[in-house]
Amino acid sequence: MSRYRLQPSPAQEVMLLEHCGHARFVWNLAVEQHACWRPGRMSAPGFAEQCRQLTEARAENAWLRAGSIIVQQQALKDFAQAMANFFGRTHRRPTWRKRGQGEGFRIVAVKAGDVRRLSRHVGEVKVPKVGWVRFRWSRAVLEGVKSYRVTRDASGRWHVAFAAIPEPIPAPTAGEVVGVDRGVAVSAALSTGELLHTPALRDPEKARLLRLLRKLARAERGSKRRGRVKVAIAKLKARERDRRKDWVEKTSTDLARRFGVIAVEDLKIANMTRSAKGSIDAPGRNVRQKAGLNRGILAGGWGRLVARLEQKAPGRVVKINPAYTSQRCSACGIVDRQARESQAAYRCRSCGYAANADVNAARNIAHAAGHAVSAREGPPLREPTNREPQRDLLLVG
Ligand SMILES: [Zn+2]
Repeated sequence: MSRYRLQPSPAQEVMLLEHCGHARFVWNLAVEQHACWRPGRMSAPGFAEQCRQLTEARAENAWLRAGSIIVQQQALKDFAQAMANFFGRTHRRPTWRKRGQGEGFRIVAVKAGDVRRLSRHVGEVKVPKVGWVRFRWSRAVLEGVKSYRVTRDASGRWHVAFAAIPEPIPAPTAGEVVGVDRGVAVSAALSTGELLHTPALRDPEKARLLRLLRKLARAERGSKRRGRVKVAIAKLKARERDRRKDWVEKTSTDLARRFGVIAVEDLKIANMTRSAKGSIDAPGRNVRQKAGLNRGILAGGWGRLVARLEQKAPGRVVKINPAYTSQRCSACGIVDRQARESQAAYRCRSCGYAANADVNAARNIAHAAGHAVSAREGPPLREPTNREPQRDLLLVG
């Protein structure tokens, strides 16, 4: 993840906040336009139409005109992507943005030389209307940065994330298929039997978080103390998020390097059963646990993992209909609803095969991918196909 700590001067911070404000304003306008839309009316304006409207609004409002058009247009672009995600059933409908919450903006059309290194640990990036803003050069910045996103987290830290599409990782010569199941007790199970855990807060950190939450409940609204507690909570949560992001990068690289074909559940299908009550095709699986998962960050982390896999192993990720993957025995193929001994254990009553339930599901996903691959002509895809990674999905902070 190429995210760096941005260190604006107080004067620059004011201007950065202005950019955030413009981005939020434009985003909220877009949300409002789409919220007013009702079936039967003309369709809500798309990106191109909204850009035209933005030009009009800038002509009439000096304060908007004073801001960067890139910031404002990219907020519309973000919104268009968010709507696409919503219609694609991978994300919820975009909602209002509030001040101080997930603030940020994106700059595109970055030129060579707009990012430079000043000394061993200091770099700077050119931000329109703000000028050169310093950041901590904590690791190498990739060549050819095309865009970046500036964000401010709830604890007031600024970051800059440079968008660079990760280099595809060559497939290993033995193109083995691996199935990856989004687990319940563990974050992901591989058909090899490996269980992967996303990092969470450590026990002392969890205890501290609980203490802080209790403090928050007692603190008076609007008090200074309450503000301090909120910042401390945000810091802990940011730490957890950073660890998860890091895990996604490491895990996706590792999988892309070790396996020829990586099979995962098709999220679009899985999301249709999001309520986990299930449908005829995909009877409810792990109902209670899925409900918990949906609430958690895990779901988001899973989406990010799959997105990263598709970039690092282009053409080598196969998406599988998740129906029955948890009930089918991966050894004999029988579908048995009662085979789950417990949430974590699968025992086939027909052939006696016993395994971790998530590993059994991962093996089914791998089998399904094996069929899918051999059904196509020729050997498993070795070389990256010409499917371009979706650039917009990369532009995340
Ligand atoms: Zn069996």
